[in-house]
Amino acid sequence: MRNKGVLFVISGPSGVGKGTIVKELLKRDESIVVSISATTRQPRETDVDGKDYFFITDEKFKSMIENGEFLEYAEYVSSSYGTPKATVLSWLYEGKTVILEIETVGAFQIREKMPEAKLLFIMPPSIEVLVKRLTHADTGTRDNIDDRIQKALDEIKKAPSYDYIVVNDDLERAVEETYKIIESVRKDYGSDDN
Ligand code: 5GP
Repeated sequence: MRNKGVLFVISGPSGVGKGTIVKELLKRDESIVVSISATTRQPRETDVDGKDYFFITDEKFKSMIENGEFLEYAEYVSSSYGTPKATVLSWLYEGKTVILEIETVGAFQIREKMPEAKLLFIMPPSIEVLVKRLTHADTGTRDNIDDRIQKALDEIKKAPSYDYIVVNDDLERAVEETYKIIESVRKDYGSDDN
């Protein structure tokens, strides 16, 4: 049996504003939900456990891998991140539009496992803008800025393999474009559903 929901993977370099875009999508449409990942990284000041992430130990992360509890998982700047499987699958079964906001290694794992998933990459308007955002505000801490810049450049190279690329030059415009993409994919899914 085919899942009724639609799975969207949204990736993009740290500091590109993908979290803000996802928040706007959630406000717009209550059938859109976002998966809460598990991570071993330290919470930032603004992070809320159980809302932004499930902050867990390395041991717990390993046991979740062993028990097959992740849909995908990856390392990112010395921490582990993974998508808990059960909630995502039940949301898809319920017909929701599920967003995974994850990095590129995990995104390609999802494509392997669930080829019907759509991969969308949020691109900064320029490298200069991205470096500026990463160096100043975004992460709120000094954690690994140089590593994150390097990682961002590596991730941008993967963008051509994504199904869609949206440039975040203007928040409202980028949200609109992303929402239109979601709507058009949902329409395609619906059309062969009978
Ligand atoms: P941050 O530490 O800035 O919250 O996240 C770092 C990177 O990890 C971001 O690119 C974010 O999208 C990604 N990420 C968050 N959760 C997951 C996850 O469950 N799986 C994977 N593969 N990446 C994740």
